[in-house]
Amino acid sequence: SLQGKTAVITGSNSGIGLGIARSFAGAGLNVVLNSFTDNKADHALAEELAAAHGVDVRYIQADMSKGDDARALIEKAGACDILVNNAGIQHVAGIDEFPADKWDAIIAINMSSAFHTTAAALPMMRKAGWGRVINIASAHGLRASPYKSAYVAAKHGIVGMTKVVALETAQEPITANAICPGYVLTPLIESQIPDTMKKYDMDRETAIKEVLLDRQPSKEFATIDQLGGTALFLCSDHASQITGTTISVDGGWTAM
Ligand code: NAD
Repeated sequence: SLQGKTAVITGSNSGIGLGIARSFAGAGLNVVLNSFTDNKADHALAEELAAAHGVDVRYIQADMSKGDDARALIEKAGACDILVNNAGIQHVAGIDEFPADKWDAIIAINMSSAFHTTAAALPMMRKAGWGRVINIASAHGLRASPYKSAYVAAKHGIVGMTKVVALETAQEPITANAICPGYVLTPLIESQIPDTMKKYDMDRETAIKEVLLDRQPSKEFATIDQLGGTALFLCSDHASQITGTTISVDGGWTAM
């Protein structure tokens, strides 16, 4: 049973991370929320989730661009049965114009933070005799798009690291997998819709289907709730022999 276990979710005051946190709290898990900010709203979110589901929810500030912060997040959590590496950012530019500081930030937040949190969490999982590492990669962990060099490199990298963690824990009751979402309607994507409508002179529906979901054959966004459900499945006993692999939630994108 998942009751009483603790999940640490990086980058979880918004979007997919928050969606997974809601699903986990709803399933009786204690949750540690995280981002780099330390606002009233961050802590209020933790209180709201705890009250709604009768579980323990804490918000711990830590900047995933810093290795020491990533490790400190796990230490401060004190327990980490389930680790969800979700924090991520994007920058879009041709490789010859790609700002070096953006490259470094994307590699640090989207990939290296997962190295540090995993290194800190594995001893706790071993001691507890059970563990799950769930990395939120992307369809861009399996496919490329132009102008997203750092993001595609980081997401391919985290898929590779997931396989290594799975091999190093293969004979233990620990699994490591990556979820590869296609387009998910998060605040991040929602904010791109008005500009896209303007740029192509399209209504909302057409801009979504023809531009944003150009490569998503279902022509539907995946939802944060579906990602929460996929993450919960990976935590279930049914998934205990699923390790070192990717699960795509992308409406058929990577079938092409
Ligand atoms: P989002 O912007 O809503 O969420 C990103 C989260 O990461 C936020 O909580 C943010 O506060 C946090 N974050 C950013 N920088 C951080 C830092 N330095 N330290 C700690 N936390 C930090 O975006 P999202 O769409 O929910 O993305 C979540 C993850 O899912 C990312 O890894 C992203 O690459 C991946 N993803 C998203 C989509 C999509 O369509 N939305 C598709 C595939 C993969």
